[in-house]
Amino acid sequence: MDFLNTSFSPQGEPIEMIGEGQSFVAWLGSAGLLEASAASKLKRRFGAEALDAVATEARKFREWAGNWIARWRDAPNGDYEAELRRLNRLLERAKGYREAVVTKDGMQLIERFHIDSADELIVLVAVQIALLIATEQPALVKHCAGTGCTLWFLDRTKGHGRLFCSAAVCGNRAKVAAFRERQRSNVD
Ligand SMILES: [Zn+2]
Repeated sequence: MDFLNTSFSPQGEPIEMIGEGQSFVAWLGSAGLLEASAASKLKRRFGAEALDAVATEARKFREWAGNWIARWRDAPNGDYEAELRRLNRLLERAKGYREAVVTKDGMQLIERFHIDSADELIVLVAVQIALLIATEQPALVKHCAGTGCTLWFLDRTKGHGRLFCSAAVCGNRAKVAAFRERQRSNVD
């Protein structure tokens, strides 16, 4: 979900978080998909050009995945064979392995990937999309109802009635807009 939200328009102005290779690698690090030490090594190992190319592929993949998830949410039992084929091809690109690590929550088994070329970085985001489709309920995967807001979120509220990415930002903005609308109709 965080990956889908790497492009957004807070005030109607689009912001791109993975516009080039460096920022894509930095984002992978901040999202916890890549260790910080690995991120700095990758930059030296693969060079800017190859990383820019995979960032471009990641942006295209993000658009495609967002489209698919929107359709899947509206029709969870649809025929997505072609989409799964495409996703699986990306997932095959890098070899995974498991590692037992100690975290602040105790011992955990985590999945890591051998990244031998820049284009294999796409696996890290493909896994996130695959996990979303495999583990989340489609009805809880939502697009913010805020005007001009493109953010996705998972509705974890009890009644599943959440409409906005953030009540503080988009929720308030919608309230203000509705209030102004009422004021206007009172005046008319
Ligand atoms: Zn929003």
